[in-house]
This record gives sequence, structure tokens and C-alpha cells, in this order.
Amino acid sequence: MPEKPPVYELFAIRYATRAARRRDHFIGGDPHDGPMPMDYYVWAAVSPSHAFVIDTGFTAETAAKRRRTFLRCPIAALRLVGLDPGAVEHVILTHMHYDHVGNFHLFPRATFHLQEPEMRFATGGSMRHPRLAHSFEVEDVVGMVRLNFAGRVAFYDGAAELAPGIAVHPAPGHSMGLQFVRVHTRRGWVVVASDVTHFYENMESGRPFTTAVNVGDMLEAFGTLAAHAPSKDHIVPGHDPQVMARYPAPSQELDGIVVRLDVAPQVDGRNV
Ligand SMILES: [Zn+2]
Repeated sequence: MPEKPPVYELFAIRYATRAARRRDHFIGGDPHDGPMPMDYYVWAAVSPSHAFVIDTGFTAETAAKRRRTFLRCPIAALRLVGLDPGAVEHVILTHMHYDHVGNFHLFPRATFHLQEPEMRFATGGSMRHPRLAHSFEVEDVVGMVRLNFAGRVAFYDGAAELAPGIAVHPAPGHSMGLQFVRVHTRRGWVVVASDVTHFYENMESGRPFTTAVNVGDMLEAFGTLAAHAPSKDHIVPGHDPQVMARYPAPSQELDGIVVRLDVAPQVDGRNV
């Protein structure tokens, strides 16, 4: 009998936000245009023996440059869930867009886990197109190249188990080497979708987000997410303010800052 994988605690930390419109978030726009704000998160999976940080957010400087509302340093906020960034050994990067890969300099000991096609994309000929390059910060990309030369990037070209109870799965389309993360928790396997679906509504209505490399792949990726989750309520979108509404804070003090994803979500006060 295979051993049961260990159980991770799983947290989402909200570090930034921006006002936006519905038309900003769906290819083809939206006939019912109205406000649809976007939140920015990093995630942390913690077991008694392992800690994985999932994505590293952006810096205050990048927030100012891109006019995002910066709420807190996502890396300092890891301390709110008991992690010392200086001691973290594993950081999973779902992809290299500016809002997922800044702040790597704050992890002096970490190995960064990345799909190799993402590095090829971010350092390749496609970046001469402003439409594609816009989602990347060149200094972040250069920083990852330096980390690679220092032997601190672990590359994958496909699904991989990083430790018992935590695995990465490629699901490109939004970016070339985008991956999502499956984490074993006390409510079963939870899928941290990152930008495979920015909002619940992207996957539920089959309408991909506006930043796209390959729309067909983005549509397929919604199915890949579903195939790797026990139910749709085990899939956590990458930028949806609803995540803060559906999941509980670990404590009253962390209300609006951190939620627990290893607890079943509630919609309008109901268990779902
Ligand atoms: Zn992205």
C-alpha cells in the first residue's frame, strides 16, 4: 500500500489590488461592463517537514510603476503564516510575469522551481513584441538568469512531484511555461491555479483572460485544472477577490490579509 501523502496547511496572502472593469478580464470584452477589481496573491504550503512558497509577488517599486495598489510586502507577510523568508528553501514560480516573480532577492537560500519553457519564452525572441513583453519586468528576467547561473533554478518540462503531497503541472496558454500547483491538504488535493484561471468566472464561463499567448491552450487548461481537482471547489483562482470572501482567515487579526485554503470554502454563508 502506498503511504498517504503528508498534509499541508495552505494559505493565500493578498498583497495588492487594483480597480478594473469586467471588459479587462475576458477576451472579447463583456456585454455587462462594470467594476471588477483584481487582487494579487502569493501562496504558502506548509507541512511539519516542508515549506513551499508559491510565487513571490512584486515590489513596491513595481507597484508604483504599474499603478497597482500595494497593500504589503508579500515576502514580509510570509511571517504572518510562520515562515521566515531567509530560511525558505523552496519557491515555486508558476510563471515569470511581473506580479509572480519579483522579490526573489529576498530568498537567499531558496531553489526556484520553474517550467523550462517559461525561461525560454522570457529570454527568447517573443520578447521583442511589446504585447508579450509587457507582462514581464526585464530586471526580473535577468535576475532569474543570474539565479540559474548560480545553480538555484530547478527546471521541469512537464508534471513533477516536488515532495510527497506537492506537485506542479504545466498548463500553458496565458504564458508559455505556466504551471499550477497541487497541494495535499486535510480536505484533499487543492489546486492553486495561479493564472490558469485569474477569476472563477474565466473557467466557469469558458472565457479566457485577456493576456494570452495561445487561446486554444488556455481553453484546454481549464479542463486540465478540473481533471486534477476533486471538485471545482478545490480550484483556487489566481487573482479573484472572491477567494478572500469564500475562505476563512486563520485569525481575526489576519482578516482581509490571509485566508486558509485547506478549509472548505463558503459561498454566501453556505458550505459548497
Ligand atoms: Zn500572469
